[in-house]
Amino acid sequence: MSERIEKVCVIGAGVMGAGIAAQVANAGVPVLLLDIVRDPAHRNAVAEGAVAKMLKTDPAPFMSARAAKLVETGNIEDHLAKVAECDWIIEAVVERLDIKHDLYAKLETARRAGTALSSNTSTIPLDKLVEGRSDAFKRDFLITHFFNPPRYMRLLEIVTGSATDGDVAARVEAFADRAMGKTIVHAKDTPGFIANRIGTYWIQLGLNAAFDLGLTVEEADAVGGRPMGVPKTGIFGLVDLVGIDLMPHLQKSLTETLRKDDPYQAIARSHPLIERMIADGFTGRKGKGGFYRVNRDVGKRKETIDLATGEYRLPIKAGGLPASAAKGDLNALIGLKGKLGAFAWAVLGGTLAYAARLIPEAADSIVAVDDAMKLGYNWKFGPFELIDKIGAAKLADRLTADGQEVPELLRLAGDRSFYRIENGKRQYLGTDGKYHDVVRPEGVLRLEDVKLAGAPLLKNGSAALWDVGDGVACLEFTGKMNALDGDVMKLIGQAIPLVQKSYKALVVYNDGSNFSAGANLGLALFALNIAAWSEVDKLVAGGQKAYKALKYAPFPIVGAPAGMALGGGCEILLHCDAIQAHAELYMGLVECGVGLIPGWGGCGEMLQRWRDTPAMPKGPMPAVAKVFETVSTATVSKSAAQAKELLFLRPDDGITMNRDRLLNDAKAKALALVEGYQPPAPPEFKLPGESGHVGLNMAAQGFRKRGLATDYDMVVSDALAGVLTGGTADLVDTVSEADMLRLEREAFSKRVRDTRTIARIEHMLETGKPLRN
Ligand code: NAD
Repeated sequence: MSERIEKVCVIGAGVMGAGIAAQVANAGVPVLLLDIVRDPAHRNAVAEGAVAKMLKTDPAPFMSARAAKLVETGNIEDHLAKVAECDWIIEAVVERLDIKHDLYAKLETARRAGTALSSNTSTIPLDKLVEGRSDAFKRDFLITHFFNPPRYMRLLEIVTGSATDGDVAARVEAFADRAMGKTIVHAKDTPGFIANRIGTYWIQLGLNAAFDLGLTVEEADAVGGRPMGVPKTGIFGLVDLVGIDLMPHLQKSLTETLRKDDPYQAIARSHPLIERMIADGFTGRKGKGGFYRVNRDVGKRKETIDLATGEYRLPIKAGGLPASAAKGDLNALIGLKGKLGAFAWAVLGGTLAYAARLIPEAADSIVAVDDAMKLGYNWKFGPFELIDKIGAAKLADRLTADGQEVPELLRLAGDRSFYRIENGKRQYLGTDGKYHDVVRPEGVLRLEDVKLAGAPLLKNGSAALWDVGDGVACLEFTGKMNALDGDVMKLIGQAIPLVQKSYKALVVYNDGSNFSAGANLGLALFALNIAAWSEVDKLVAGGQKAYKALKYAPFPIVGAPAGMALGGGCEILLHCDAIQAHAELYMGLVECGVGLIPGWGGCGEMLQRWRDTPAMPKGPMPAVAKVFETVSTATVSKSAAQAKELLFLRPDDGITMNRDRLLNDAKAKALALVEGYQPPAPPEFKLPGESGHVGLNMAAQGFRKRGLATDYDMVVSDALAGVLTGGTADLVDTVSEADMLRLEREAFSKRVRDTRTIARIEHMLETGKPLRN
């Protein structure tokens, strides 16, 4: 029996199986992907086709081309014996018990005893799946329920049976958590497990209430989305996304398997309009359109279905929510008079009461339920966190006033909250009526936990410094979108002597879903509009000074980004000694997109990296050309693996798959650098000067001729080329780091005064998209 999972087999190369296989490959682990033989002439065609399709899918299931190569394709007739090479077999074939049984019977002999085996079933109970199987099979069997798409959805529900061996389950969990980056939620073997059970109930309530109360689709989604902390798609938008035709299947499966007294039975209903839409192929985004559609016959016109007539019409902007309700005051929302308030109460009151009933039936603790909804449905708050916003007692009173049953758990809470902070720790209310610490798995550390336990070492309006234990301090950005401004630079200036005096190392990290979107453009635009040029120049020089001070500080600094790290957010990372990145890293120098060039040392740092790459051909030009290509096109990595290919990350920078483990891993990396730490020596460059500059401009002209660059793009890339080639330097000159910084400042200062740059910045702030002027 293998103690480690070194090779995985996924059987069934459909939507889920293929995506799961890709995520195993993203972890750097080889995976065998099998499906049936559909075409005797092309026996592996199904699995091969699935991989080929994934290579064209956006957002991409694979994090890198190298990952895709780790998938070996085959078919279950010719290659089933190969499962004996695998330490974990994941079954993801169609949701039919007979087909799964048939496959398991074959696996009984094909697999190596002791290897883990799991099903990705959404609806079939574990006991039914293992019916007729040997004891050895049952010991190794569990349900691992991934969410779609498997790379991006962090939730993994795990169900074990009475016969499942704890060691086998632990092995799978450790791999799914650390290697595949999933957060594991333990669910009981009940229909729909946790997330889909609550999610389906919530959707059904929303559809029913919208039809019954006569809401428009827009009204329902405006009330049922953001104000409740739910993605802005709301309910109708979500159903469009997952497929309207999925609804009757979920409904059928749940009504057949749930107990007759389950509240879902009373609300499960089909709506004639929805039936008709499915029959006519209006199944949502994948079909001819859904509740919302883009009408391509009429110039890509956006349209919405009228729930009363079933006809498409122009969108009607939903209005009428008072500011408090719109901003997440749930009592204000469910207290609204009229149909919007009635809808909010029907959906929220009903869903929260249902969630409270599911403990201990479907899950042991409220934490599991909250995690499941946050990670499986992208809710900002879990059901019990939402109840705390309303107040458990208030919710119970309103249910009683409505003649609805008050769930046992709500009664137990009484006027207490489901979560509380005690002695710097977050605690949850257990079914025993007592509070218990929320325990993070070993190796999981979040800044939010650190914050509960103490005060920051330093803090201003845009950044803070925290003690994260073991002699490591953590620099956090705190502004909107973690944007960078003068206050961040000021705090860096204060942090360096403090860390030098009392700490061993620094990590640059925050809990946000995006590390930093870069310099605060809003602030910059304000300064530009009042022509406060000295302020802008000061910000550029201040940023350069702060970043270089980090680079040459006498202690190691590790950057730990997740999500977007753009512009100045990318540049601060380029100045760190090492990076521990979350696998989902979207990193790049995007300044040219807004008519600027990197001004906080990014040009020199990138140049040094490419120049020092062993594979680079000799001479200064290849590295210069490479950086020019990456930066002038504002290239952003689509993963940490890709950031390595672009040299935004160095080859030995670390990648953490599980977001919750990032801070702890970064701390470990920083501590490993402490002994004998020496700051780097400032680089010197030999640059091609004017002749190189001309060469880069000719390359850019090629883009212009192909219609890929605008006139102003040419001006901006010319400025960038001037910096990267060393300005007026010649090959015999030595260009220092300080020279590079001066060139950056001069070029930046010119571009930022150009009205076309200002127009780009304005457009970016308004629309979030670059202006191609
Ligand atoms: P799918 O229809 O996209 O793919 C199923 C695949 O199984 C097909 O490629 C089919 O050729 C293959 N297959 C059928 N019989 C087979 C056999 N005997 N051996 C090997 N392959 C066989 O389905 P899916 O959506 O990927 O669902 C797969 C499983 O995952 C189901 O159990 C489903 O309930 C579950 N699930 C689905 C989702 C989802 O969002 N689609 C989410 C979680 C779990």
